[in-house]
Amino acid sequence: MLRSRFLWKLYAGYALLIVLTALVVGALVATSIVRSAEEETDRVLLGDATLLRVMVAESLVGSDRAGVSEREGLNDPGHLEARVRAIATATGSRLTVINATGEVIADSNVSPSGLDNHGNRAEIVAAREEGIGWAGRFSRTLGQRMRYVALAIYEDGAIQGFARAAVPLVSVEAHLASLRRLVLLGAAIATIAALALAFVVAQRITRPLRGLTAAARALSDGDYSRRVVAADPADELGSLADAFNIMRVRLREQLETATLEQSRLAAILGSMVEGVVAVDREERVVHMNQVAADLLGVVPTSVQGRRIWEVTRVHGVAEALREAMDSDKPAERELLLPGRADRVLELLATPLRNGASGLRGAVLVLEDVTTVRHLETVRQDFVGNVSHELKTPVTAIRGLAETLIDDPSMPEEIRRSFLDRIRDQSLRLSRLVIDLLSLSRLDADPSGLRTEPTHVQAAVRAAVRAIEPMSEAKKIRIAVDVPDVPVRVLGELQALEEVVSNLLENAIKYSPEGGSIEVAIQADEREVAIAVADHGMGIAKPHLDRIFERFYRVDKARSRSLGGTGLGLAIVKHIVRSLGGDIEVASEPGVGSTFTIRLPRHRGAA
Ligand code: ADP
Repeated sequence: MLRSRFLWKLYAGYALLIVLTALVVGALVATSIVRSAEEETDRVLLGDATLLRVMVAESLVGSDRAGVSEREGLNDPGHLEARVRAIATATGSRLTVINATGEVIADSNVSPSGLDNHGNRAEIVAAREEGIGWAGRFSRTLGQRMRYVALAIYEDGAIQGFARAAVPLVSVEAHLASLRRLVLLGAAIATIAALALAFVVAQRITRPLRGLTAAARALSDGDYSRRVVAADPADELGSLADAFNIMRVRLREQLETATLEQSRLAAILGSMVEGVVAVDREERVVHMNQVAADLLGVVPTSVQGRRIWEVTRVHGVAEALREAMDSDKPAERELLLPGRADRVLELLATPLRNGASGLRGAVLVLEDVTTVRHLETVRQDFVGNVSHELKTPVTAIRGLAETLIDDPSMPEEIRRSFLDRIRDQSLRLSRLVIDLLSLSRLDADPSGLRTEPTHVQAAVRAAVRAIEPMSEAKKIRIAVDVPDVPVRVLGELQALEEVVSNLLENAIKYSPEGGSIEVAIQADEREVAIAVADHGMGIAKPHLDRIFERFYRVDKARSRSLGGTGLGLAIVKHIVRSLGGDIEVASEPGVGSTFTIRLPRHRGAA
């Protein structure tokens, strides 16, 4: 409490006022008391002089009255002096009688013979002029400062002498000093009492303010529960406390609403698939959701309040935001994420305006468009590949047919070989179209295959049976190893058969004559694995990942000569994926390849 600056300021104001008032009032009172004391002294002095004048007037008048004076013994200097002394004893003043020439005739304190002419004394000079004269000076006769008053004694308009009264100023001054002391003491006591009272009053005024300050401080620290209680609800401080309490409740409500809004916004931004970064006018990060942080490789909590170009080195980010703010238009960018190969980001920065009052910042939406861009490329490549694959047999057929037409006299043998080639090319065309159709059917409805529980052994046996003419032509033996108990998966029998026969066909195509192929089914509680292993040419490592792509062949010419379309494994993978499974390959060039399909096992009723 005693550290309250306001209390001390208020109190200092009070104290200054009190001390000034005490000084002014004290000075005024002291002056007025001194003045009245001086007036009183003068009045008494004048009274004494008047008395003296009356008493000694006759002694100084002319010869016509000498008889009376003589009778009364007034002209006798000794007598006069005795009288003067008697009056002086009664009044307490020093009394002097001076004749018109300035000689001292009688004095209550000193013998006149020892005194010089008083005609030049200031009070006498003034009295000669005006009838009365005042003076204050040091009396050499008495050795102290005196206050004098002299009255002229007239007889028929002429000055006969002077009656003078004097008091030592020491006694007057002593009296005045004691009076001054009294006033000073009174003023000091009043000041101390007033200062003490002022302190109490200042405290009473500042106490509720201290309460308010503490509550306001608590408010700024987030404590909204602290009520301010006013001593007197009716006065201004009471109204202030009331207003404060209302403000406190409103603030709490607003904060709750703002917090709710913020958490809602954070939830929305957090659940977005796109990354969102909001910056203020100075490019300081106001918000960054987790997706944006992941894409830019930063921790969202550590970037708050920092400039965006400090936060991320990804070049286009700060640029796009700056451009949007400078141009006041959305800015778009597409960029490759540095350090993370092949990730493609699409950025859209939009300026944020606050009504007419101007720019508030910008919002950046980041989208990882890698998959989209990849799919676009794949689609473009696919269309290009299809066109190319179709063009080759069509061109060949057309060339052969035209030669046949142009040369009717062609020997029968050559004509026959031309027709054989036309048939081969048309077969290739039809295989291609069939494969493309199955792919497009799978693309259109990928889940359409998981319709019925299918007996895996049955599908494998059917595929092996169907491929037998081809294997026998190359004298390749196919060994089948299947479990005794029926194993089922969810999917069309025909699709499963197509998968196995495609793998068997490849195994035969890429195996030497007289080779062998093993087909095995293994099943556990959850999974069925179908493996097709050959001992053929194998596949080199760099191609292993790519052989499932559409139209990808390790050796194009060889595949074509073997009647391949480059779509077989793509179809296989597509079907397997549609059945909820996956395919993998292990291969070594010159040793052989093993393709393994894994499908979820179906344990329900057949
Ligand atoms: P293709 O119609 O050319 O056989 P696929 O999609 O069936 O097309 O296969 C893609 C490529 O994978 C083939 O061109 C071939 O180079 C390679 N390949 C597939 N199966 C085998 C295998 N069993 N042994 C060696 N290479 C294979």
